[in-house]
Amino acid sequence: MKHIDEYRNGALARDIAATIAQAAAPGRQYQFMEFCGGHTHAISRYGIEDLLPANVQMVHGPGCPVCVLPAGRIDDAIKLAMRPEVTLCTYADLMRVPASGGATLLRASAAGADIRMVYSTLDALRIAEAEPHREVVFLAIGFETTTPPTALAIHAARGRGLGNFSVFCNHVLTPPAMRAILESPPRLGGAKMRVDGFIGPAHVSTVTGTRPYRVLAAEFKKPVVVAGFEPLDVIHAILMLVRQVNDGRHDVENQYTRCVTAEGNRIAQEKMADVFELRPSFEWRGLGEVPFSALRLRTEYADIDAELRFAITTVPAMDNPACECGTILRGLKKPAACKLFGTVCSPETPMGSCMVSPEGACAAHWTYGRFRDRAAGRQSVRPEIPA
Ligand code: SF4
Repeated sequence: MKHIDEYRNGALARDIAATIAQAAAPGRQYQFMEFCGGHTHAISRYGIEDLLPANVQMVHGPGCPVCVLPAGRIDDAIKLAMRPEVTLCTYADLMRVPASGGATLLRASAAGADIRMVYSTLDALRIAEAEPHREVVFLAIGFETTTPPTALAIHAARGRGLGNFSVFCNHVLTPPAMRAILESPPRLGGAKMRVDGFIGPAHVSTVTGTRPYRVLAAEFKKPVVVAGFEPLDVIHAILMLVRQVNDGRHDVENQYTRCVTAEGNRIAQEKMADVFELRPSFEWRGLGEVPFSALRLRTEYADIDAELRFAITTVPAMDNPACECGTILRGLKKPAACKLFGTVCSPETPMGSCMVSPEGACAAHWTYGRFRDRAAGRQSVRPEIPA
């Protein structure tokens, strides 16, 4: 199919892999993080790690929006949904993400909560219009990709005078999370992990552009290559990163030129800036509290803010202590290192958020790589790579 097949050409992928093998200096280790869950999915699905030389390794990052939402916020959503007057609208992936004590939105729905799965913010608006006697709350999650549609829905609700529509905002931002990874000691509990460069997110960057990564690349001296989600995009980005490391460069490069510009989508950025402001701090599953890493509604839209309307006060909650999602989201372990992986935890019975969404590292490994990992005897714990 035009515009898919051309980015999935196996012969070309093997040629690029051979070029990577030639470019990678034999005595040097390269460790790159793909920030985004879409890239994690592509790397697992197309076996990209199998094509790389042993000294070029990929680390999975925290860029899966479902994975990083902490249990306490899911608890909040469940409490909201259990209110008799509330209809909670959510994307389907969130239904099975574990909250505290093994609760999920799916279980709350089975217990009688009015929870509706939607494909877009417009679906939630339609429900609010059709059922004016219900308090319709949209559970908004995601990075910069899904934030503009939430902003548009808020504008539309205001424009249509929908007094029964509100948003429970959990939108998060990419650059502060990349910073948190790079500043890992001491913020991430002293755990140290080396990243030589990032594959920057694809869809996020269509909105933000590549500019926001420049400060990080310069400050931490780490190259960033924004890449598309197709396998040739990813392997090409790895080659670009290897070349930057060899040259001692730490530039922001754009592999995904067919969709991403330096400036991004100005209209989407303006809509976001009109509706949202930065939170001083927000908890991420795996990363803990990350300053200025999430958005909330501006006071001008306080009447549409579910957090204010329903006086939500988030109480931090514990994850399943046997679940390793936290260390996996920080790139410190691979999914197979978790004792529950493929035993009690699978996409049918997820014990942690990383096994729920296809973009989660555990789900991707389970779906595409669990047998390969075992057969290859791959190390499941990240070795510390000397600088
Ligand atoms: S395999 Fe399951 S329990 Fe283990 S880290 Fe992944 S999601 Fe958590």
